[in-house]
Amino acid sequence: MLIKVLSERASACCPLCSQESDAVHSCYQRRLKDVPNGGQAICLQLTVHKFFCHNPECQRKIFTERMPTFVAPWAQMTLRLAAALQAIGLASSGSLGARLAARLGMKTSWMTILRRIMDLPLPEASPVPVLGIDDFSFQRGRKFGTILVNLGNHKVIDLLPERKIESAATWMQSHPEIEYVSRDRGNDYAQATREGAPQATPVADRFHVYKNLVEAIEPAVARCYKEIRKELPPLPSPRVPKAKEWRPAPARAHEQQRLARLEVNQERFDSMIELQKLGIPQDEIARRLGVTK
Ligand SMILES: [Zn+2]
Repeated sequence: MLIKVLSERASACCPLCSQESDAVHSCYQRRLKDVPNGGQAICLQLTVHKFFCHNPECQRKIFTERMPTFVAPWAQMTLRLAAALQAIGLASSGSLGARLAARLGMKTSWMTILRRIMDLPLPEASPVPVLGIDDFSFQRGRKFGTILVNLGNHKVIDLLPERKIESAATWMQSHPEIEYVSRDRGNDYAQATREGAPQATPVADRFHVYKNLVEAIEPAVARCYKEIRKELPPLPSPRVPKAKEWRPAPARAHEQQRLARLEVNQERFDSMIELQKLGIPQDEIARRLGVTK
């Protein structure tokens, strides 16, 4: 649906010198995507005015009227559509968000959704008296980065593209307010802390303390597991069903047939033994009983 929108403002302020002008120069048209209406995509054909700037000090002679609460200059969508896509992107993700947005009447691409998210301002940096630092992998086991967490509010404050002493130390140098650094027990971040935040007290974080503890205890326990077991009550052995319990019980008719076959075979076997005792050759026994040799 295309909606034509005309600005009726009689005057506007120059974006450069802020002086108001009511001297219309011309009209200017642009197309904008807007939020859908009842699932229907909306396109606005927006007509705004160009004005002369009569301020002799100003470099701008002609300017286009701005609508700062409605659309950003040069943007191809309204601010409210951008905000809607941003909200969808934050709640889902690029490609999932694009699919959801399409269902809601906002045709867009995953790239646009991501771009809208990247447009969001970063949260304001707050002091970090207690810093948590550790590595994380971009690609499991292959490419590592460094994650920095404000342990005061448990928020991630920065990501570094690598796991290096220098970059971690440089980051810490720009935060002289750091009092404690909670880190793993490796050498790299210990060195980074010594270089970047010598005033801070390093502490081993709980996760790594537990991990190291488990790693130290495990071999010791494994070594004397037998002795430990002797002192403990026996483990309850799980009741394993026997093979025939696993099979479904045979149907009654089947079972009767099976028993009948067994009986016939037994009879035939007995006769065979008797004929053999009488000294009758094997060929003759087979012929008489109707079986192959
Ligand atoms: Zn001006």
